[in-house]
Amino acid sequence: MTFGGRIHCMFCCNPMAAEIKQDRNGRPYVICHVCGLRAFLKTEMSLRGPTMIWGPLVRALQAGDVEAAKAMLAKEAAVAKENFDHELTRDAELVAK
Ligand SMILES: [Zn+2]
Repeated sequence: MTFGGRIHCMFCCNPMAAEIKQDRNGRPYVICHVCGLRAFLKTEMSLRGPTMIWGPLVRALQAGDVEAAKAMLAKEAAVAKENFDHELTRDAELVAK
């Protein structure tokens, strides 16, 4: 993570409008210079979506590449389903014990 770096705002969708900053305790937060969003993050993991998924998705949609956007969403949906199925299996195993 780069403090001072910019990402697409996940709320107003303005490209590179949100800045990754660091509070006085060293924790990351995001502020959007367009819509005013302020999101305080517990860990850097919270930036996974905005940087890995949201950014490329916004760029594909801005370029009018609907097929690329659909492919990205389908891939993320498959990962989400796999994680959900894994959690269900784990929860069922815990209940069985
Ligand atoms: Zn915004």
